[in-house]
Amino acid sequence: MIDLIDIEKVYQTGKKSSFIALRGINLKVDKGEIFGVIGRSGAGKSTLLRSVNLLERPTGGTVIVGGDKLMALGEKQLQEKRKRIGMIFQHFNLLTTVTVRDNIAFPLRIAKISTNQMKARVDELLELVGLTEYQHHYPKQLSGGQKQRVGIARALANDPEVLLCDEATSALDPQTTEGILTLLREINRKMGITILLITHEMGVIRSVCDRVAVMDHGQIVESGTVLDVFLHP
Ligand code: ADP
Ligand code: ADP
Repeated sequence: MIDLIDIEKVYQTGKKSSFIALRGINLKVDKGEIFGVIGRSGAGKSTLLRSVNLLERPTGGTVIVGGDKLMALGEKQLQEKRKRIGMIFQHFNLLTTVTVRDNIAFPLRIAKISTNQMKARVDELLELVGLTEYQHHYPKQLSGGQKQRVGIARALANDPEVLLCDEATSALDPQTTEGILTLLREINRKMGITILLITHEMGVIRSVCDRVAVMDHGQIVESGTVLDVFLHP
């Protein structure tokens, strides 16, 4: 479902200075799996994740998602493709001035679907993440876990084939983290959605991932099943 081939990312840090954030990254994520990337801060996890929807455009290599070579797409085609790639964030990135309901509806408004379809879809998403009762609340009236549930519902609005999770539980306490991970697993099972997550927390990898890659200094230094990588060193 996701195929990163020989990805390189060089950040221009000054007129004559640059920094190699990713080099020689090869990563295949199969349809329907939950794949985790772990590594310490600065290892390049976020740059890697953002390469998958071209929030960061790699300076070398090929990004294939659902059979499409993303770097070859025009702006309009890329916009369409991005609707099929949901993303959630460590700090949720919700719109603070609108309600839970309107946060979830936001991507649907952009997609210009009919009002009736939008209503039905938002109701369905609210139920999926367990926030029906909170639909008229504003983000500041929610706990961290509830905010992330809104983030998840919004990310799923356009029925994506891939969900990218950027340290999605790092701002949450352990119990809330468990709840969010359980929800992600449920979504993965029920909808067959492919999940790529990055984290610096081993517990997250252990509790939900099928396979894992370990990153260090912009490279993947190990990968395999969670058992292979962490229990049979
Ligand atoms: P991680 O998510 O593992 O913490 P990042 O992908 O955020 O790692 O960063 C990897 C490296 O790239 C870090 O050394 C970081 O300072 C550098 N970096 C990230 N974004 C930029 C940028 N826009 N410009 C220059 N360097 C960057
Ligand atoms: P059921 O279990 O009733 O057959 P599904 O498991 O197919 O239903 O889907 C449950 C709900 O989630 C449906 O209402 C569907 O619209 C929605 N859904 C299905 N696939 C996705 C997806 N990939 N992303 C977001 N929502 C989805």
